[in-house]
Amino acid sequence: MSNSTSFKTTKKNKRFLGVRFASCNCYGRLYSNDEGTAYVGRCPKCFTPFTVRIGSGGTDSRMFIANCG
Ligand SMILES: [Zn+2]
Repeated sequence: MSNSTSFKTTKKNKRFLGVRFASCNCYGRLYSNDEGTAYVGRCPKCFTPFTVRIGSGGTDSRMFIANCG
């Protein structure tokens, strides 16, 4: 896992990505971090952290399926 991605999401009006946490069978959101480099967040049930890079090499999709747990 990369240590270079900030998990800070303190800005207002953050963009977010809807996520389905498949293993826990629940939904949540990943919010863009303060640097705007990635969507970051955790599964609300098992607290597995997820990072989805924004832009080149990242995702353009609006819905992300995460396998956690
Ligand atoms: Zn989970």
